[in-house]
Amino acid sequence: MLHPIESSATGSAAVRRSPVAVGAPADPLEDNPWHTGAACRRDEAGLFFAPSKEPTAARLSREEQAKQVCARCPVLLECREHALAMPEPYGVWGGLTAAERRVVLARRRRREAELREARRVPTGRIAG
Ligand code: SF4
Repeated sequence: MLHPIESSATGSAAVRRSPVAVGAPADPLEDNPWHTGAACRRDEAGLFFAPSKEPTAARLSREEQAKQVCARCPVLLECREHALAMPEPYGVWGGLTAAERRVVLARRRRREAELREARRVPTGRIAG
């Protein structure tokens, strides 16, 4: 699925995909896709994906502006979970940058491993 504000690539090698791209084919299984309410559909393009060779200060500023759009988006959680599940490797999705999503995924994997381990180890015996 493509981002709703999908803009033309400006030299970036990144594949610009997102849940709510303008012109993205609708999922035939969904009568009301979650991304139809996306706030970024109404915002100007260019905030959510990095142009090539973007200086760090410009990237941080752009990402902050994108996050401000996400903060008022009614489908933020759905967007975030979509980007984590795919996983989407580029751009701001659900208020998180790609690096922030990698951290979330690493934490989830670590927690799942801890839960699996906890289920394997008996925690105590009932005295009888
Ligand atoms: S959370 Fe952000 S990227 Fe996702 S649909 Fe909403 S505005 Fe767009």
